Amino acid sequence: MSEHHGEKELAAFIRAGAARRHDQAFGDYFRGRNASCALGAAYEGMYRLPDNADGTRPTKDLDWFFDCLEGTIRRCPAEGCRKRLTLASILVHLNDDHRWTREQIAAWLEDEKANGRLPPRTPPAP
Ligand SMILES: [Zn+2]
Repeated sequence: MSEHHGEKELAAFIRAGAARRHDQAFGDYFRGRNASCALGAAYEGMYRLPDNADGTRPTKDLDWFFDCLEGTIRRCPAEGCRKRLTLASILVHLNDDHRWTREQIAAWLEDEKANGRLPPRTPPAP
């Protein structure tokens, strides 16, 4: 039932997006001409955005393709962190809160043992 199709492609998009904008953005998908966060890079890897993407917000169009972005809950891989979030939120969380590089995030996505896909609809703790 669960395909790991999405994560590897997502990692490839992050790398492609990161190669295009060498700086990492925190708190924004894009900043100026040269910075993107992990999720921004992923979107850019798929959609070629104009060079100045400041203020651009990715649309929801990718979700049909990567339903893993919103459809699966992941455990945060950072040591000592207990957050469980959708994959899209984890990408932003790792980027903004743990300051992981886009490269680290892509590597984590490619590691099927580490990337911690949890069963869908994990009930909230009582
Ligand atoms: Zn965390």
